[in-house]
Amino acid sequence: MGTDALDLLMPEPYKIKAVEPIRMLTRPERSKRLAEAGYNTFLLRSEDVTIDLLTDSGTNAMTDRQWAALMMGDEAYAGSASFERFAKAVSDVYGYPFVVPTHQGRGAEHLLSKSLITPGDTVPGNMYFTTTRLHQELAGARFEDVIIDEAHDPAADHPFKGNVDLKKFAALVKRVGAERVPYITVGCPVNLAGGQPVSLENLREVAQFCRSKKIMLVIDGARAVENAFFIQEREKACRGWSVARILKEMCALADTISVSAKKDLYVNIGGFLATRDEALFKKAAELCVVYEGLHTYGGLAGRDLEAMAVGAREMVQDEWVAHRVAQVRYLGARLEERGIPIVKPVGGHGVFVDAKAFLPHLGPEDLIAQSLAAWIYEDSGVRGMERGVVSAGRDEKGRNRPVKLELVRLTLPRRVYTQTHLDFVAAGIAKTWERRMELPGLRFVSEPKMLRFFQSRFAPAKVASGRR
Ligand SMILES: *Cc1c(COP(=O)(O)O)cnc(C)c1O
Repeated sequence: MGTDALDLLMPEPYKIKAVEPIRMLTRPERSKRLAEAGYNTFLLRSEDVTIDLLTDSGTNAMTDRQWAALMMGDEAYAGSASFERFAKAVSDVYGYPFVVPTHQGRGAEHLLSKSLITPGDTVPGNMYFTTTRLHQELAGARFEDVIIDEAHDPAADHPFKGNVDLKKFAALVKRVGAERVPYITVGCPVNLAGGQPVSLENLREVAQFCRSKKIMLVIDGARAVENAFFIQEREKACRGWSVARILKEMCALADTISVSAKKDLYVNIGGFLATRDEALFKKAAELCVVYEGLHTYGGLAGRDLEAMAVGAREMVQDEWVAHRVAQVRYLGARLEERGIPIVKPVGGHGVFVDAKAFLPHLGPEDLIAQSLAAWIYEDSGVRGMERGVVSAGRDEKGRNRPVKLELVRLTLPRRVYTQTHLDFVAAGIAKTWERRMELPGLRFVSEPKMLRFFQSRFAPAKVASGRR
């Protein structure tokens, strides 16, 4: 795997045609804005951010072809031609015959959970994802993590750290009974583990087991193209295959895919559920009408469907994803050479800073990653997000769910920032690194019940709690 600076020098495979100015505040201004935002980077105003690495979700820059396609939007309520072009593109690229559009990924998760879950069921997954687990729970299921142990260790260097642990999965099925496991969600790659991929071999084993137990295999495919790239790079059996072919192969193993198009498809809004299971399709299409909109627009405008259709065909061109991952690795290498602890190997959508190793003097009560995200913004105007105890939320008894990983995610929007921006990010985080031992933790000031990381407010702890 190339972490050598020279093989990272892949030029941007695009020219820039429209630009958006960036504002740069002074440090005292940023301190003020941070306090106003309750030390939660989700509550900062975009205008107050210099480099926005909060998320790669819907923050993509579209190609000129995607922009042109917007004009072709057929805004008919029913049976729009845009839907036909979109559904055809999804079927061609992912290989599923049935497609239900949704306003974004969680819309698809909602339809899927409601269609398949009976209260009391258990839904396994390779590490949780926030909205995925919540929709499973709201439908009455319990989530159980069946990822391999290496995923919970930021320093463990494993090529497919997102893999499902077949032993854990089989033990769970034995314990609760296959009839109480309607499906497994396999995130390819695993967002919260740092964008870690799943191997085709592992997916094949999971598929085989699922078939023997009549459990549906669902891929959470928000970034399935990135997963396909890692398979191309690391799995011997797939050497020389195109990303397009590997993606199809992954999908051929699963029954269903749930996709947030705001990631891989290079659009600003959209999602879908695609499946080869006609019964699921019928149920999901029926629920779509209730929660999203008619099954031929799913809460989207015709023009959004057009942008997704073009994006779906563009995203599987090898050079796009190769450049994306090269950018992420470039940032990872710049941080590593300064000694800043990050999750390894670097994944496909962002660099995950190991906040526990960064702030060793803080304890769990200090909301370590939340704090680090706040201080990084204060020092440089770079916005990342917390993936730690705040994101994990509380369990049914109201206790904070224990987490092994406290990470600050620096996510790269697709085709938005240049290498100079990434150098700026690394230099900015180095400033925070220099003053790390002075940095205090945070405490909750207010906390919503669900998906609390989006809207919670915090205040600095009076003193850094005494671990020094
Ligand atoms: C973003 C994401 C989702 C949810 O999609 P939204 O478009 O944000 O609703 C689900 N799973 C994963 C892995 C994601 O990254």
